[in-house]
Amino acid sequence: LSWAKAEGPHSYRFFESNMNAALLRFVDTREALHRALEHDELVLHYQPQLDLHSGWVVGVEALLRWQRPGVGLVPPGEFIPVAEESGLIVPMGRWVLAEACRQAAALHAAGWPALTMAVNLSAIQFRQRRLEVDVAMALEASGLDPRRLELELTESVLLHGESALQQILSRWSAQGIQLAIDDFGTGYSGLAYLKRLRVNKLKIDRGFVADLQTDAENRAIVQAMIQLAQSFGLKVLAEGVEDAGQLQALQQMGCDQAQGHFYAEPLPAAELMRWLRQADSCADVGNDTGNESG
Ligand code: C2E
Ligand code: MG
Ligand code: MG
Ligand code: MG
Repeated sequence: LSWAKAEGPHSYRFFESNMNAALLRFVDTREALHRALEHDELVLHYQPQLDLHSGWVVGVEALLRWQRPGVGLVPPGEFIPVAEESGLIVPMGRWVLAEACRQAAALHAAGWPALTMAVNLSAIQFRQRRLEVDVAMALEASGLDPRRLELELTESVLLHGESALQQILSRWSAQGIQLAIDDFGTGYSGLAYLKRLRVNKLKIDRGFVADLQTDAENRAIVQAMIQLAQSFGLKVLAEGVEDAGQLQALQQMGCDQAQGHFYAEPLPAAELMRWLRQADSCADVGNDTGNESG
């Protein structure tokens, strides 16, 4: 506060009151998030992921929302940073894992046995030894086949040291759990980790996909990412696909999978089921032999 103080008592008070407001907001959100966990105010929405070679729905990504009383549906960008700073992301992430695995098992039982459930993990969760236990318990309680669980990590997990991470990922990999690098290309890490970490998929950040047709540089970056994935034997998914033009460009470049508003926004579980049923009936029109979940 010293520089603010130097500008006189008035600016000091102004600065301090701004800081108090930010602090109060943080504390307020943190307390409310505590209650949210206890009172079941968290919900998962699910966004379909499509295979671009076959056209089939191959998975869904679980995306967290907070049904905050008196406020409405709060997107994760507005509360996950607070959850991470306060450590609440640990119990919250545990709930997400359990709920997503339970929902995946329900989808399998409802007639879509091949769907993969993708779950986002925060770098903070990797600092706790409990994470592996949480994953194991979510699988155990739901009965979900580990090969149908995909864990998404961002390059920020690499900041906490690679060797411990390498071991965790190897153990998960040995169980058949799928691993994806989320927001690929937006982190500050190099690429060398791809040689050492056992991952299955790269998810191209939607920032590169957004102006794919108009921005030659982004197009070159996306093309390079797809080639990189292919030469490492990894699947590659494009995030944030919003129109047919982007989709066509991605297909031409050999991208494997896509998700985005062009297909569907993240949907509550019941709506996802309706959407999947619709997708099945569309597939049946063009293909009498049935669909992948047949
Ligand atoms: P993400 O994992 O990269 O998820 C993709 C985000 O892009 C989601 O935002 C999704 O709704 C949005 N999106 C998908 N398709 C489109 C599109 O076509 N256009 C546009 N403009 N946006 C699209 P959302 O749901 O707000 O989530 C934001 C971020 O919050 C996620 O980014 C992820 O990093 C984090 N997050 C969400 N759920 C969880 C969770 O359960 N745990 C953790 N640790 N983080 C989560
Ligand atoms: Mg994600
Ligand atoms: Mg992403
Ligand atoms: Mg993200």
